[in-house]
Amino acid sequence: MKDASNPTINIAHYQQRERELQSKLDELIDFVENASLPLHWVDGNGIIIWANQAELDLLGYTKDEYIGFSITDFHTDENVISDILTRLTNNETLQNYASKLRCKNGSIKHVLINSNVLTKNGEFVHTRCFTRDITELNEASIRRDIILQELEKSEAKLKMVIASVNLGTWEWEPKTGLLTWSDECKKIYGLPLDKEITFEIYVQHLHPDDKERVVQAIQDCLDGAYGGEYDIVLRIIRFDDGSTRWVRAQGKVYFEAGGKAERFIGTVVDITEKKQEDLRKNDFIAMVSHELKTPLTAVKSYIQILLAKEKMEGNAFKLNALTRAEVQTQKMTLMIQDFLSLARLEEGKIRLNKEVFELHNLIEEIAGDAQFLASSHTVKLQDCEDIIIRADRDKIGQVLMNLLSNAIKYSPKGGSIVIGCVKLGNKVKVFVKDDGIGISLADQQKLFDKFYRVKNEKIKTVSGFGIGLYLVSELLRYHKTKIEVESREDEGSTFYFTMNMQQAQL
Ligand code: ADP
Repeated sequence: MKDASNPTINIAHYQQRERELQSKLDELIDFVENASLPLHWVDGNGIIIWANQAELDLLGYTKDEYIGFSITDFHTDENVISDILTRLTNNETLQNYASKLRCKNGSIKHVLINSNVLTKNGEFVHTRCFTRDITELNEASIRRDIILQELEKSEAKLKMVIASVNLGTWEWEPKTGLLTWSDECKKIYGLPLDKEITFEIYVQHLHPDDKERVVQAIQDCLDGAYGGEYDIVLRIIRFDDGSTRWVRAQGKVYFEAGGKAERFIGTVVDITEKKQEDLRKNDFIAMVSHELKTPLTAVKSYIQILLAKEKMEGNAFKLNALTRAEVQTQKMTLMIQDFLSLARLEEGKIRLNKEVFELHNLIEEIAGDAQFLASSHTVKLQDCEDIIIRADRDKIGQVLMNLLSNAIKYSPKGGSIVIGCVKLGNKVKVFVKDDGIGISLADQQKLFDKFYRVKNEKIKTVSGFGIGLYLVSELLRYHKTKIEVESREDEGSTFYFTMNMQQAQL
């Protein structure tokens, strides 16, 4: 117990209390002086009478350059600081008041000020100002505004372009079934602008001959085939007058992390006029090819009869001439076959007659035919035994023949071509490899486009129409696989595709 009557003990006690209070005060001063939040006091005349280190650091001044000066010297906007001071004098509390402060190096800090006034006996003592630096936030928001403005501009441009080419846009969420068509899209389909659309109604308006193919292509894309890329030419039945129109639809599926289709977005454009023109050209090509086929078959038969005769009689000159004539007629037959396939493809009339067969036999036949047409090259077979596939035999034959004749056409005389297979689990990779002129990366991108031919001095005398590889890629697309190429200029090319192998024995 303390003895209140003992003055020595009392003094010691008060001295102890004072030391404790001083220590608390020092801690408090240290706390505000070194707080990470910038703070300052301004007196009734607008003079800064105290600022902590964070405030000085924020603006880059020393104590001598800041304290004792008018706060108005540091605000960039006179009206703002005068408003702040008026409000504080009227005893208002400022909350997140936006202002701009001038730094020593001339830069500007965007800040939010929170402040109120300390009064004693109704007298203004000083303001208590908390300054929050929002410069970075502000810059980010300015940048965001600029980006938004740019986006708005480019969206407006995009809209103008879309409108000027009469391009319809659509978006489908397979999970919810929500299908949205732009006005232009509705116009193409003849759907009133105020009408909504569903996927089921859309399917009802596909042309009966295209329905199965289109629905299958959509399903394939949703399942991730072709990287979710959708590009299809189809016929639709317009909602308003029931007329048939040709459209080209392109799109892309966006997948969730788990691989499920999330959104399918794309465009549609009416190509009826162009399609009709193409069909007229097609009809012409088909008609000419067809008309050439019959006399050519007759010529081939006569040549074969004469060849058989000459083989017995043994006239070397005639035998040689007739063999060359047979080679030429065979080349013409292949060309006509390609033209007829192209015409059928354009009309959407390609049908696959799938059968199960041994790949080796087909490759042997095709390699033999190719060798017959080009004695200048050697065609080698590699590892294609014991492979059974299910496909349209004639069409796979046509694919291989096109690849082989290209390998021959685009590699120097005396070169060797390899047609071979690599087994990869339950799949087989079929390839045709040459050591020819090769193809640049830029050309590889366009190689499979219809009528595309590489512009290259070395091959300007090599004839062709640029339809072979287009047919190859389309025929393989019908088989749900795709043609790929690896090539380097002057080193050669390898064209390849993969197919599922069948387990069943023949
Ligand atoms: P075509 O041979 O009738 O021109 P293709 O569609 O078969 O048409 O081939 C397109 C182009 O691709 C050819 O013009 C040629 O430039 C290039 N090409 C095709 N195959 C090869 C190859 N094996 N080596 C080099 N270039 C090739």
